[in-house]
Amino acid sequence: MTNKADNGHRMAPTSAPGRVKEITSISNPIIKDIRNLALRKGREETGLFMAEGLKLVLDALDSGWQIDTLIVARNQLHNPVLSKAAARTVASGADLLEVSDKVLAAVTRRDNPQSAVGVFRQQTTTIGKLDLGGDGVLVALDRVRDPGNLGTILRTADAAGVKGVVLIGDTVDPFSLETVRATMGSIFAVPIIRMSEGAFLGWRAGFKGLVAGTHMAGTTDFREPAYNKQQTVLLMGNEQAGLTEGLAKACDVLVRIPQSGKADSLNLAIATGLMIFEARRASLQLDNAG
Ligand code: SAM
Repeated sequence: MTNKADNGHRMAPTSAPGRVKEITSISNPIIKDIRNLALRKGREETGLFMAEGLKLVLDALDSGWQIDTLIVARNQLHNPVLSKAAARTVASGADLLEVSDKVLAAVTRRDNPQSAVGVFRQQTTTIGKLDLGGDGVLVALDRVRDPGNLGTILRTADAAGVKGVVLIGDTVDPFSLETVRATMGSIFAVPIIRMSEGAFLGWRAGFKGLVAGTHMAGTTDFREPAYNKQQTVLLMGNEQAGLTEGLAKACDVLVRIPQSGKADSLNLAIATGLMIFEARRASLQLDNAG
């Protein structure tokens, strides 16, 4: 990886074609830099992250995400889709690394690696840039801790047409390998916003729609509010501690999903899925619905 700006971050590729390199050793310094992206520190220092698999790479390129480097299995380049993605990458000014299976396995830390791994520039947005329309739904997660939960929530939010996912406070990194894997490509489709609790509460003070918090002490059934009549924020609590007092107090309503049985609560990603589909119920229908 080259093109470092003064702050250590990589600059956007120039319009000149990218370089093509063949690498067979896992101790190659370029591979060492890319392997560092498995660590949060490495991602924070570079602003980059990895997405595994040809489908994800194509999703990202089609959605206009900026590719920095594409790593491909040299022995798979006969696949026309893979070689087309490689040509697209080089034409965009990013680098192409043609590597051995051993190198790909080391990069992804998997025994059976995919044929392609893309290194992309991280992209988040701000809450003010979102267009919620008349009845858009936003999901806000208080200090989400589990990468698998976050990935599953991003995938579900994408599937149901949620306008964005807000990460409040100290959260897991949405660009970790595990989260990106769990999104199955939705990381490239759903706008992500990162905010402190204070900044979120400041924004909430001027928000005219409905803020529905989910809470184990909520007294309103989650199917009651008229989500589809207004812009809505679904506020979800931390896996262990639930919502902070400040966030719970800022809600218009605290809803609960009824349970029977012995479980104290639902898994966060499951509870978020139920909330999203309930809030989006009126807007979702099968293509073949007559
Ligand atoms: N121990 C936490 C508490 O008492 O608040 C519960 C944590 S729960 C695993 C994580 C989050 O999932 C909750 O903060 C809430 O957002 C959501 N959740 C889980 N089960 C729920 C339910 N039955 N009704 C509403 N929200 C629920």
